[in-house]
This record gives sequence, structure tokens and C-alpha cells, in this order.
Amino acid sequence: MTAETPHPAEGRRLGPIDRADFITVRLPFVAPFGTSIHTWSVKEALLLRLESGGVVGWGECVADPDPFYASETTTSAAHILRAFLLPCLAADQSLGELLHRIRPVRGNRMAKATLENALLDLLAKREEIPLHALLGFPARPIPSGISLGIQEAIPALLEGVEEAVAKGYHRVKMKIMKGKDVAWVAAVRERFPNLPLMADANGDYRLEDAEHLLKLDAFNLMMIEQPLSYTDIAQHAHLQRRMATPLCLDESIHDLDDALSAVELGACRIINIKQGRVGGLLESLRIASACAERGIHVWSGGMDETGIGRAFNIHLQTAPDFTLPGDTSETSRYFKEDIVAPPVTLDARGFIAVPPGPGIGVTVREDLLEKATLHRERVI
Ligand SMILES: [Mg+2]
Repeated sequence: MTAETPHPAEGRRLGPIDRADFITVRLPFVAPFGTSIHTWSVKEALLLRLESGGVVGWGECVADPDPFYASETTTSAAHILRAFLLPCLAADQSLGELLHRIRPVRGNRMAKATLENALLDLLAKREEIPLHALLGFPARPIPSGISLGIQEAIPALLEGVEEAVAKGYHRVKMKIMKGKDVAWVAAVRERFPNLPLMADANGDYRLEDAEHLLKLDAFNLMMIEQPLSYTDIAQHAHLQRRMATPLCLDESIHDLDDALSAVELGACRIINIKQGRVGGLLESLRIASACAERGIHVWSGGMDETGIGRAFNIHLQTAPDFTLPGDTSETSRYFKEDIVAPPVTLDARGFIAVPPGPGIGVTVREDLLEKATLHRERVI
């Protein structure tokens, strides 16, 4: 697909939505996940459940309850969905018409992605085809990637990398922050000289730190993700001109226009596409395709999703324009008990199988959902 042509899925008729529910779930993480901005010890997610003619579609909002990774929160997303997005649903419209109707709502892309995800799952299930087929791609084994949070000390980080390598992960991402950067990357690189390794700063540095960041060029990193501010593009372009290591933008990219600006300015050579951050799967495909045309690699980032959001990310990565391993790792790294079956696992070569079956291909386990539910509200 190109940026100009609508995706074929946009032509599908939505039909009547008989019922919509918000379900807020809370799942404790197996271990806290630390970044330069915040440490999360539980996953709290807003789920959207849509029902139409006995078929159920699921969407997961990737926003956290707090505004530390992004400005949207589960509460703000629920408000935008309830007051502005769900009222645009009509039985006699296509998906493309709905997406056009919600365009006047600025920003709030996590809320928009939640609705788009649920509708795509519903449409695929209605046609009894897997989501990747609705998106237009055959299934393929998805290379796994792992994101290791900030640790207390270097030995704990090395232990985490060791485990990831033993498991067969195709690349390892380590979070860095001021004071836990050059020496930490050096320690990992020394122990694992050939490991596909990258670092993610979640915007912890400023352009004045360029001299310090340049030291990371010594470690043959695949990329450094979002070193500078979450709102910036231009300063990343200045930094990229000085650094040999490719920069990758995450937080700065909210849609196709941001991606095109970043690429045109030379602010990065790689983009982390989080489908929930950019408004959904279809915008993700547009960004991936535009990047491929310009020789820019992209990969699918994660937001520590439950099995629902994780399944969307897996289906998205069947698109051949996703050229690098993403953040999708095994469920057991995050949760002792998820709300879906089957969990994500790696095969002996570190690949993830696309769940077969209609829609996202995983089943929401009502018993586990019930256990994890904090709040449930019928909105249609
Ligand atoms: Mg990131």
C-alpha cells in the first residue's frame, strides 16, 4: 500500500455494533520494568470489546494509567472513545468512512487505535480469516526481540542478556539513562561481542550531551533509540549528523507526517512503529511502506501489552516492510497469567508463530479476564 491509496480493509462494511464495553484490567508484571522516565510494576490496560451479530472484536489501548510514556492515559482514552469516537459508529458505513469521520479528533491516537484494532479484529472474525490476511499478508515466522529494563547494577543486566541470548532472541535492547549508559553498554558488548544490541534512552538526554553520546559509537550498536526529547525531531537531525550509530525515533513519531519529516530532515535512519501510538495498524502500514520506499528500516515496538495487544503486534509484523526484529517477546517474561490463550512463546530458533484462526487468533479466557478486571462498563 502507499500513503495515497486506501487499504482494501477500509472498504469493508462495519454493520451494526450491538454492544460495546470498556474493561479495565490489571496484571502484575513478573518483574518491574524500569526506564529513564518511570518504573512500572503492573500492567493496567483499557480493553474495548465490540459485539456484532454474535461476533466479538477486541481492542487494547496501549496507554498507561499515567502520562509518563505518552500524554494519553487510560482515562483520557476512555473519555475520547466514549464522547467522540464511538458516537461516529454507524451500521451503514465502511471502515474507511468511519476513519474519515473520526479524523477531526486531533491527536489521541492511542484511543483511535483501540477502536480501529477492535473493528479490524471484528471484521476478520466475521469473514473467518486471520487478521494478517485481512491486512493482506501471508503468515511468516516473526523474529523475536527483547527489551531489558534499567537494572540496579551491571551484573543483573548481564544476567538478563545471558538469558535472552540462551532463549534465542534475535536482538537485545537495553534501556539506558544518564549515569547508566556508556559503562553499561561497554560491559554488555565486552561479554557479547557479536550480539545484535541496541540501546533505548526514552528521551533522557539533550543535544548538549552529544559529546557523551558519541562515546556509544564505539560499541557497534544496531541503533540508539530516542536519545533526545519525546517532542523533538530537529535536534535528533543535528545529533544524527554527528553520530555513526543509526538513531531510531519512537516517542517523536505520532503519524505518517512525523515519520516523513524525520526522514526528510535526517533525524533517524530507523523508526520504531508502535501501532497503538500512531493510531492503529493501517497508519502503521502507511508509515512502514513510506519508510521502505526511502530506505528506512522499521520495526514493531511494544508497550508491554496483554496478549490482546501483543497479538495485534504479531499480525502487523507479517508485513514485509517490517524489516528488523521488534519488541515482541514471550508472555512469560511479563505475566505469570495473561488473559488470553495461547501465550506467546519462542520456537527453538527464536521465532514467534502467528496465531492461526480468525481475527487476532488468540482467545480471551473469560475466567482469567474476570480475575484481572478492575472495572467494566457498557458504553453501547
Ligand atoms: Mg522506546
